[in-house]
Amino acid sequence: MMKKILLIATGGTIASRPTEDGLTPQLCAGDILDCVPQLRELCRIDALQLMNIDSTNMSPACWLKIAECVREHYGEYDGFVITHGTDTMSYTAAGLSYLIQNSPKPIILTGSQKSIYSQDTDARRNLYDAFLAAQDDNLFGVLLVFDGKVILGTRARKMRTKSMNAFSSIDFPELALLREGRILHYIRADKPAGDPLFYDRLNSRIFVLRLIPGMDSSILRSLLGWFDALVIESFGVGGLPRYEQEDFLAAVRAWSSAGRPIVITTQVPHEGSDLTVYQVGARAADTPGVLQAHMMTLESVVAKLMWILPQTGNLDEIKQLFYQPVASDLLRFDAPDI
Ligand code: ASP
Repeated sequence: MMKKILLIATGGTIASRPTEDGLTPQLCAGDILDCVPQLRELCRIDALQLMNIDSTNMSPACWLKIAECVREHYGEYDGFVITHGTDTMSYTAAGLSYLIQNSPKPIILTGSQKSIYSQDTDARRNLYDAFLAAQDDNLFGVLLVFDGKVILGTRARKMRTKSMNAFSSIDFPELALLREGRILHYIRADKPAGDPLFYDRLNSRIFVLRLIPGMDSSILRSLLGWFDALVIESFGVGGLPRYEQEDFLAAVRAWSSAGRPIVITTQVPHEGSDLTVYQVGARAADTPGVLQAHMMTLESVVAKLMWILPQTGNLDEIKQLFYQPVASDLLRFDAPDI
């Protein structure tokens, strides 16, 4: 029997048309589906238009709306396809991975680099592949399908602004490939049993600070007035600078005294942090309230903090939740014993 899939359209280039001031989402869910008539032979599709925005304008409030929409319709469908702009798709994929946990059904994000109306578009193939993935019995949870790859929601990153192979899976294998209408599975994991867990709160008062050599550490104290958690994109495997006149560690201690977490991650695209390697890292790691990203992507670190903070303000509990792997965001060997 044909599977029943719900398309949740949110905008992005896939739904865009040229205007005098540049591309803007204008096509509705029905228009998009009409461009790929073969989809009707693959599965039964219902569609709804949740928003129609450039994903630059996608906020955590929108992630909550998407998660709520999936929750509301979860029992009626075998899988979900969410069309979305590519620019922030990896943040939404990470956000939804925390808002919807242990889903035995696939929830697939897709989009395109070129509008579905262009001659030379990746949109039709990506859309077809997304539906193919959404009705596959071996795929589950929040996933991103793009340019023939199935990428875990907590591992996706936009790596190219223009080419069709825009997304990569960071420090984790792609789950499957899509070739000529077929899915080749690389990894088969056990499907979660039972109902998924839905969450409905996020705290977006998170700041990401990218270190540059010579940065004045007083910025950390200023940010304390505005944000509930700080992510520092440090250098290499991770460390905090100590310049002649100032020490970042003192500013970091001000955050722990205020009971707010700091996560140290790296600016290097692959292989994550390890604060134990150098003295500049180890002295930071020993500070209460300082956590490290290990091999989590920046998108997952940000979304995980947004998900954790409404649940607790206690630094020990924040640590506990942060190091508890969710949807393979953190690999078991990375998660410290706590
Ligand atoms: N600016 C667009 C968006 O993210 C880019 C795209 O979809 O490829 O909505």
